Amino acid sequence: MASVFDDLVGQEHIIDILKGAVAASRTSSESQEMTHAWVFTGPPGSGRSSAAVAFAQALICPNLGCGACNECQSAATGGHPDVEVIRTEGISIKVEEVRELLTRVAWAPSMGGWRVVMMEDADRLTESAANALLKAIEEPGTRTVWLLCAPTLHDVLPTIRSRCRHLQLRTPSIDAVTQVLIKRDNIPPTMADFAARVSQGHIGRAKFLATNDSARSNRKAVMQLPLQLGSLAAAFQAAQTLIDLATQEASTSSESRNEKELEKLQEAYGKGATGRGMATGAAKAVKELEKEQKSRATRMVRDSIDGALLDLATFYRDVMIVQAGDAGSIINTDMKTEVVGYASSISVYSAVQKMSAAMEARKHLAMNAAPLLICEALMCELARR
Ligand SMILES: [Zn+2]
Repeated sequence: MASVFDDLVGQEHIIDILKGAVAASRTSSESQEMTHAWVFTGPPGSGRSSAAVAFAQALICPNLGCGACNECQSAATGGHPDVEVIRTEGISIKVEEVRELLTRVAWAPSMGGWRVVMMEDADRLTESAANALLKAIEEPGTRTVWLLCAPTLHDVLPTIRSRCRHLQLRTPSIDAVTQVLIKRDNIPPTMADFAARVSQGHIGRAKFLATNDSARSNRKAVMQLPLQLGSLAAAFQAAQTLIDLATQEASTSSESRNEKELEKLQEAYGKGATGRGMATGAAKAVKELEKEQKSRATRMVRDSIDGALLDLATFYRDVMIVQAGDAGSIINTDMKTEVVGYASSISVYSAVQKMSAAMEARKHLAMNAAPLLICEALMCELARR
């Protein structure tokens, strides 16, 4: 029988634990033993939120997570009254948002089973928000299960993580990602292999690259940057180019989404409604929406810059691999000549430094430093011979 856990690529080690918990949650005598708070961690793209969603589905599905019934489907799309999914488009989750959430989930589950609250970005909780949440996790309604997701355990406040059961997801192998792209998304094998390889196990990124021409050509342009750093002026130019490409990629995917949201909102208020209360209500809602969209756009640009930095890092990783005498296992096989040439032009020490500089830049970006400054500093470092 099909199961919601089938889609979790390369996570066999946690699927058994989750299935066990779901089985235990069904026997009323054991319900006290059900763990009420879980933290899912894993590198970006490993599918930590997909794992949490699958768990939520299995907890409320009469068939232990069949993926096909109404419960399973509404849980996945956010339409189930007992499943609350908190996704933030902004940079942080504030205490007001957590308080509002707590009043919303204070009721007993409507269907009589479990209420599941899943938080996709528990690492974005501000300290006061985390403290508000802590109280709820410490004294959970006996039928509420909390599923928190974060990149690493260190991103979650110690007081919270000590009360949660921790599940660590693995980065799926390139081969596993390739197979999913071929079987699930009908992507041709050569393209699936390329996308899986350059995305290094990040399933979402792999699918995006495999199905999006402009994303592929943007990536190609980013990968040319290390070869264009002949002068300081060129380094500054390269930084600007990286920002421009990332911004462009982020805005193409958010523009159509923004328009749809606005249309939906206008429909809800009735286009052309003339009542005075109606008009001010609509204007206020549009303003709120625009604010949300702006904050999401900022985050999407940051994510996109982060992706570009990760791509750049693969270039220097390949250079190091070639210097170590293993040209057969490079990621960017389409740039082999360039990588080999570059590898012979710099020292091993310098290649290591450049790769760490790219990773360091990602760290600074995650800490909210100004993107252009980060990229300029990085490109200057990469230009050094
Ligand atoms: Zn189901």
